[in-house]
Amino acid sequence: MIYQRSSALFKDAQKVIPGGVNSPVRAFKAVGGDPIFVKEAKGAYLYDEDGNRLIDYINSWGPMILGHAHPPVVNAVVEKAKKGTSFGMPTEIETQIAELAVAMVPNIDKIRFVNSGTEACMSAVRLARGYTQKDKIIKFAGCYHGHSDSFLIQAGSGAVTFGSPNSPGVTQGTAKDTLLARYNDLEHVEGIINSNKDEISCIIIEPVAGNMGCIPPAKGFLEGLRSLCDTHNILLIFDEVMTGFRLAKGGAQEVLGVDADIVTFGKVIGGGLPVGAFAAREEIMNHLAPLGPVYQAGTLSGNPLAMAAGLAMLTELNTNQDIFKSIADKTEYLHKGIAEALDKHNITYTINRLGSMISVHFAEDAVIDFDTAANGNNDTFKKFFHGMLENGVYIAPSAFETWFITEALTYKDLDETILAVSKVAKTL
Ligand code: PMP
Repeated sequence: MIYQRSSALFKDAQKVIPGGVNSPVRAFKAVGGDPIFVKEAKGAYLYDEDGNRLIDYINSWGPMILGHAHPPVVNAVVEKAKKGTSFGMPTEIETQIAELAVAMVPNIDKIRFVNSGTEACMSAVRLARGYTQKDKIIKFAGCYHGHSDSFLIQAGSGAVTFGSPNSPGVTQGTAKDTLLARYNDLEHVEGIINSNKDEISCIIIEPVAGNMGCIPPAKGFLEGLRSLCDTHNILLIFDEVMTGFRLAKGGAQEVLGVDADIVTFGKVIGGGLPVGAFAAREEIMNHLAPLGPVYQAGTLSGNPLAMAAGLAMLTELNTNQDIFKSIADKTEYLHKGIAEALDKHNITYTINRLGSMISVHFAEDAVIDFDTAANGNNDTFKKFFHGMLENGVYIAPSAFETWFITEALTYKDLDETILAVSKVAKTL
């Protein structure tokens, strides 16, 4: 494939945008080469500036669960835009999407909308600290909760892709309040809690990790966290930015049967527009301004275009809940196909999957936490990534990411992808 125009555009972009991108994971730093510039996208496909068609497994890193330019979502945005794009005053649609979200997700009475997953997680932690009157938080190595200071301690996704899991600019003062635990290691968490008695406000976790590749929780792990939180008066925050409205209408809480105290959202909830949200029981949410003392705000929060996209998206998912099973089935089909293709060529790999989240690790041992994810062979991944691209399939340009399956992918697309894996496996 030819990427001449993309490369030229990247050159121009680098002169005026740091690294040529507005979010680091978009650069191909981990895999080498120039990033691809998108011209447009429809359904399961991206069309780039050179006229290539790519089957898309990133899907804007999760939001486009029904495919790109999904007509009900696009129409809702276009119609709203005609009536004004921002007011900084309340609008009815904010209540409509809030009512729907609260009806779909377990254990939440109230929800507040923000503009990104980062804001949602940052605000959720502030709320937990304000509510419990304690300062420290526990996060897990390899989990990513956005780029706010407290989370850039052994973070996953781009932070680890670029080898800077602890970012300069995060002060010692902030870092000391973030305690790091091993994913899927309950004893480790218990030890941390015991050595920080009465100081921990919350545990924040991706209930299915997606930012060190996909890592599902081990049996009993989330249940164990729930019980530790209950015993020690700690709030359990599920970061459902990836899993929310993807694994089921009620997200990971519903699928895994574990209750969280605060839930954060992003990605799907905004239908492809900049939206995040955090939600909890009424007694917790009432601590937020203007009702309570915990301050949180936003000029563009609840923006009408964003709410229109999100409402159209959630309405469709709520009306047709078979979608969740349908995308999980497609993911299982893809899993089997990829495994067969890699087996045929004696490639060492581990595939992790839960619902419509899946990742291929070029690792021998089970991938259950950050250390085992980091053991994967990155050189093999690089070859795999470029091989797939050459065959018209776009996966995330880093081994520390999940593939997102959408309802727009047909079984023919999946077969084309599996065929690509077969061809690439020969060269690994
Ligand atoms: N939490 C999780 C689990 C995420 O995957 C992400 C983004 N990939 C975020 C939070 C941050 O969201 P945003 O990029 O919208 O700020």
